[in-house]
Amino acid sequence: MPLPPDLRDYEWVNTTFGFEVPKLKVETAGQAIGIMGGTFDPVHYGHLVAAEAARHRFGLVTVVFVPAGCPPHKRGLVRTNPRERYRLTELATCSNPWFRVSPLEIDRPGCSYTIDTARAFRALYGPDARLYFITGADALLEIMTWYRVEELLNECQFIAVTRPGYGGDQLRAIIDEWPAAFVSRFHFLAIPGLAISSTEIRRRLGTGRPIKYLVPETVENYIREVGLYQTNA
Ligand code: NAP
Repeated sequence: MPLPPDLRDYEWVNTTFGFEVPKLKVETAGQAIGIMGGTFDPVHYGHLVAAEAARHRFGLVTVVFVPAGCPPHKRGLVRTNPRERYRLTELATCSNPWFRVSPLEIDRPGCSYTIDTARAFRALYGPDARLYFITGADALLEIMTWYRVEELLNECQFIAVTRPGYGGDQLRAIIDEWPAAFVSRFHFLAIPGLAISSTEIRRRLGTGRPIKYLVPETVENYIREVGLYQTNA
């Protein structure tokens, strides 16, 4: 039986939970693709709002969340198992047909260098794709120390998400000192009024305070079911 026209636009994608979720089929050749990079420990509404704002503002045909396996600047410091952070990200994104999640970094052994991820996306989407790496402005403050940063800047542009009181002005001052060709690879995206952070969520969970309305309900349920973030660290 043929599918109704609106369902022909979707494909069913497997999750690690065993259920499938509908995602929009997109023509990616020559298009703008968002790579949402972060530790997501845990993922929260701030991340989701930022990804959706970036999608809308930069005309991204899809935003792929890439939970870091082992972020280079936090070696040995992230206590939550990458698989659990991945599953939380799956739960958070399953209702948005433009959002996908990639296990690329959690499956790759060693440090999660962004250049390796950008190259993998380049191989997947081809030479004409415009790749945008989306992350927090304060995560980018030390970008000049990132592995193979010049190659990375050639491979993708950056969307620096700013929240009230977080790194925007500082990052702007740093990149204004760079050659114009680098500066033009950065875009700022302000998300006012969303001062949610993973650190605050972990703190709340560790001290028995509520996280309702800070993360999707499915994410909260999973955290409580598995018993994540129960100690204050
Ligand atoms: P982080 O230092 O934990 O984050 C710094 C700030 O940015 C936090 O306030 C964080 O808020 C926020 N943030 C992180 N990801 C975000 C996102 N996608 N959208 C909006 N805000 C975000 O940074 P991280 O999450 O560990 O790392 C960010 C990305 O940079 C990762 O993909 C990591 O692998 C990459 N990175 C690469 C290198 C390298 O290649 N050498 C070095 C450093 C980082 P929350 O805590 O609420 O998320």
